[in-house]
Amino acid sequence: MAHDAEAPSDIPFGPEDAPWQKTFSDLRLVGGLPYGTPPSADPRDAYIGVPEVPHAKVQLPPGGLDPGQYEEAEALFRSHIDTQTRNFAGYQVTSDLDYRPRLAHYLDRHLNNVGDPFQSSSYTLNSKVLERAVLDYFASLWHAKWPHDERDPESYWGYLLTMGSSEGNLYGLWNARDYLAGKRLRAHDRGTGVLTYEQAPKGEEHGPNAFHPIAFFSEDTHYSLTKAVRALAIDTFHAVGSTRYPNENPLRPGAPWPTEVPSTADGAIDIERLATLVRFFACRGYPILVSLNYGSTFKGAYDDVAAVARTVRGICTEYGLHRRRIRRAATDDHDERSGYWLHIDGALGAGYAPFLEMARNVGMVDQAPPVFDFRIADVHSLTMSGHKWFGTPWACGVFMTRTGLQMTPPKSSEYIGAADTTFAGSRNGFSALLMWDHLARHSYDDQVRLAAGCDRLAGYAHERLLDLQHRLGRDLWVARSPQALTVRFRQPRAEIVHRYSLAGETVPVNGVPRTYVHLYVMRHLSRELVDELIADLHRPGAFPPEPTADPPRRPRPRVVT
Ligand SMILES: *Cc1c(COP(=O)(O)O)cnc(C)c1O
Repeated sequence: MAHDAEAPSDIPFGPEDAPWQKTFSDLRLVGGLPYGTPPSADPRDAYIGVPEVPHAKVQLPPGGLDPGQYEEAEALFRSHIDTQTRNFAGYQVTSDLDYRPRLAHYLDRHLNNVGDPFQSSSYTLNSKVLERAVLDYFASLWHAKWPHDERDPESYWGYLLTMGSSEGNLYGLWNARDYLAGKRLRAHDRGTGVLTYEQAPKGEEHGPNAFHPIAFFSEDTHYSLTKAVRALAIDTFHAVGSTRYPNENPLRPGAPWPTEVPSTADGAIDIERLATLVRFFACRGYPILVSLNYGSTFKGAYDDVAAVARTVRGICTEYGLHRRRIRRAATDDHDERSGYWLHIDGALGAGYAPFLEMARNVGMVDQAPPVFDFRIADVHSLTMSGHKWFGTPWACGVFMTRTGLQMTPPKSSEYIGAADTTFAGSRNGFSALLMWDHLARHSYDDQVRLAAGCDRLAGYAHERLLDLQHRLGRDLWVARSPQALTVRFRQPRAEIVHRYSLAGETVPVNGVPRTYVHLYVMRHLSRELVDELIADLHRPGAFPPEPTADPPRRPRPRVVT
């Protein structure tokens, strides 16, 4: 460390390299001592640096930066972000944005959509009028019944997320857990003004596991699902299998339970194995919670939602989990609900697949991904990120379910004047404005062209990488899952990974771990950038040499994207 010899009080800080305590004005010195704690070590050594944006220039002394210092710091950060934006090719996020000319005004307006999107409140600085327009747009696109009508259980209900699909997954699984565990439906409380987060009593027809939902998702699932089941204390088939039925793994008798449902090589959930696992738990009376991927994070694969729905419904019907009577405490009333829940994580795919389907229907592309939306009666909830396919400057998204599946919110919320039916408290009202702006300015036709263009460019990138593999005479592991907007290949050297922001993942292939990266074709990507990347990959040394010995076997690390 560079500053071992220095006392913490001498650590240079901020653009002037002055000791932190010397940056205080007299006004803030009390008894000669600065307010707050001084640094106990040099933050410039403690944190990862960004070479283009030196720590010193952006550190924040208590007195702030003067105009010249601000200008210099902001220029460095801007140039760094603009360079990375130009070459951004490894994540499923659109970086070609143009909201500023119309929406800069709103950066100086507070917009907060706190509470239910369909209820107005005394909190008038909101954009719920735009949020409802955006929700209706997606309800139609995803074949749900709209408009939302609180008296119609078949109509959709949803809201715009303040986080991305991670929040949609969390909310969907929360709703699913309480639904399957026999909590009270929201419909019961409508009009009564009283909320009760009530647990239904078990009837004689309910076995010991009847209110103990078990979660299933594939090994290609985004890490937010693992986080959601942790946060919500939902048991996975792995957790219950390994503790209650340790020697009964139905996929491989005697072997440990897999942590997730196996996938095919393309990255889609293996339906036969899913069925075996679901049957194991359904026949013991556990309700079934399945989360499916529609555009998996790394391979861009689509789970076959319709086939899974048929399979899960069929198995659940055999074991009386198809329709269940759930009593209401202290009354003779009951409701009838399914003993399974299908959540669709369409973070990326739910945004463009409808347009690819339209493109296929008019012959612009040969194939489209399988149907995933509310046309499938067993789809209970669906989420999509707004910043991925559509493109926004920050995370946002859509959550959608049916009104009849909503659970009672935990507490009434008179203070905000709207039911607290969403996950967040304050919700980002600017995001509704961004999505509304985007949809208002891009017709279906525009979006069909964009989606078909990306599909073609992904095909082009795939061909160019296969061609490169041929020219280099080396297996670069080039692969594209059917209709995916991503192409994966062997990880090149670090400079190239950084230059194009290529995301990596280590996947075992025949037991040997391989570190892949992928290229994601979003609408900002051009043929020129694909060609540039191919040229960089063609240079000598672009790929590290093969290791001589077989690398040791190790478990597959989860990658963070
Ligand atoms: C990106 C992604 C998520 C998480 O979405 P965020 O918007 O980052 O919260 C969830 N699922 C899949 C399949 C994803 O690709």
